[in-house]
Amino acid sequence: MLTSVIIFILGLIIGSFLNVVIYRVPEGESIVFPASHCPNCQTNLKIRDLVPVVSFLFSGAKCRYCKEKISWQYPLVELLTGIIFLLLYWKYNLNIQFLSYLILSSLLITVSVIDFKYLIIPNQINYFGIIIGFILSIFFLNQSIYSVLLGILIPAAILLLIAIISKGGMGMGDVKLIAMVGAFLGAKYAVAAIFLGAFIGSVVGGGLMLTKVKGRKDRIPFGPFISMGALVMVLWGEEIIDWYLNLFNI
Ligand SMILES: [Zn+2]
Repeated sequence: MLTSVIIFILGLIIGSFLNVVIYRVPEGESIVFPASHCPNCQTNLKIRDLVPVVSFLFSGAKCRYCKEKISWQYPLVELLTGIIFLLLYWKYNLNIQFLSYLILSSLLITVSVIDFKYLIIPNQINYFGIIIGFILSIFFLNQSIYSVLLGILIPAAILLLIAIISKGGMGMGDVKLIAMVGAFLGAKYAVAAIFLGAFIGSVVGGGLMLTKVKGRKDRIPFGPFISMGALVMVLWGEEIIDWYLNLFNI
């Protein structure tokens, strides 16, 4: 129980850092300097302004200094990260695999929110993720170089093909993102993540078009759906693949 609480709080704190990355990387700013400040009045934030979720609620969703509204994105990303960290802990317990999936899920949350807001996936994050996933898989999780390379290349090749056929529906950012997922999860799970993501995406996209929130011509970011597919595979992959194979009595 105590460990669960600690893991959840760790998730909230990492989530708060992810908000900084989400805000600064698309602007081309450093994620280390300067210290956290209000984007409106530039006041440097104190510890009491930086407590995940709690500061947001107590300040009434406003900057304490200039009263500028603070986006709901901040507490949502913190809570989401906390919840995902907790689910990963319950599934994997404390080991290297757990650590590797903490890193992957943090990268996926960051990329999803950036893609959702700006319709881009920064190269730095994808490349960083591919390298970290490669190192963890080979040196800490005893995967062969061969299988990790296939994990990076096969899902990326599939998405590249889809990107070429769909002419602009999907971008190179998505191709690099699935390469990153493959570096962590291997080819089988990453390919499954593509299909799951496409399924979730078509349900959500269809819903948005039916309710006229989005028109047929609007670009819908695919990064969040690939990320959801990957996370679902990390948490329930074996069960889903077993269930799917059972459908066909294989
Ligand atoms: Zn302010």
